[in-house]
Amino acid sequence: MEQSVKSASSLAFNPHVAALPPYNAGMNIAMARALSGRHDIARLASNENPDGCSPAVIAALASSSFEPWRYADPACAALREALGEKLAVDPGLIVAGNGSEEMIAAISRAVLVPGASVVTTVPSFGLHEIEPLAAGADVVKVAMAPEMGFDLAALETAIATGPRIVFISSPWNPVGPGLDHLSLRRLIGAVRPGTLLVLDEAYFEFADPGAPDGIQVLRDSGIDYVVLRTFSKAYGLAGLRVGYAVCSGLELARVIAAAKTPFNVNAAAQTAAIAALADESWMKASTGRVRAERERVSTALARLGFRVSPSQTNFLFFDCKDDSSSIAARLLQQGIIVKAWRETGYEHYLRVTIGSPADSDRLIVALQGLAAR
Ligand SMILES: *Cc1c(COP(=O)(O)O)cnc(C)c1O
Repeated sequence: MEQSVKSASSLAFNPHVAALPPYNAGMNIAMARALSGRHDIARLASNENPDGCSPAVIAALASSSFEPWRYADPACAALREALGEKLAVDPGLIVAGNGSEEMIAAISRAVLVPGASVVTTVPSFGLHEIEPLAAGADVVKVAMAPEMGFDLAALETAIATGPRIVFISSPWNPVGPGLDHLSLRRLIGAVRPGTLLVLDEAYFEFADPGAPDGIQVLRDSGIDYVVLRTFSKAYGLAGLRVGYAVCSGLELARVIAAAKTPFNVNAAAQTAAIAALADESWMKASTGRVRAERERVSTALARLGFRVSPSQTNFLFFDCKDDSSSIAARLLQQGIIVKAWRETGYEHYLRVTIGSPADSDRLIVALQGLAAR
């Protein structure tokens, strides 16, 4: 049967949404196989956990207490209770999301109106820009400092202008470093009443011991804030979609919850997240391995002559001294998926996930081969 596709439409769209830039998602394995003709793909573009997830998660999903035919709890009460206990936070201040991604959307929807201003960084995590733009906000992006770190003075200045929201990821995706205690306090000090600080800690568990815990630091800050965390990275549940927001106040949590869809976190995700949280030792062992591997790969890349950013995450960001899209295309021919940065001014940077040691070795050998040509 032939289906006709309308080429033009007279529909009027929300102009903010129709004009959105696409989200630059990592390539999937099937596509990489088709493009490279190879079966053994090293997927190093999406910051997934090379160790998989805790076996306790698989057991929980196979147990008879997981009932997929029932609607999941729209309030995620059991998960929020478990998180509240672990973090020593009132569960009423926690909102669970379909990935922390959904919380970025809900926060934007809850707080922003057309014309509102938002501050974030460049390079940036795509959704810190895309969700505010969808709400019609104007996004001001503060550039990375030359030494590949946060430009604290420029951030303080931008924050002090009083935007509605400041989105900062720390540890920073895509660059890698985290704010230290002093830097975090400086940024908090620049926040004026009327501004919401969103500290996205998607990589918190990969940071070195002694790094600030945003939930602890912000608790007594007196400012309005949200700390975002996720089960996608350290806990290895990216495919199930579950993350959460820890809010500074009950009213803020209520409005963010009102901005999400009612059954946002599905039953499998709630079951899995509770099981993952109960097996912290798996997560600690996994993040420990990733941290050690990160140092090994970083040293190897530096030996190849690349300028590599310091990282507190499960990825490395480095200047590949060439158009990163073309390097990424050549790595793909060898079955290696990496993320070429596309934001203006950062097209020479690649972001590579810390995968298994075998995947890292493949990457290092392939980059060595490209450098030798
Ligand atoms: C991966 C990532 C997220 C999204 O995580 P999900 O919980 O999978 O939606 C959020 N913020 C940053 C900075 C990330 O890198």
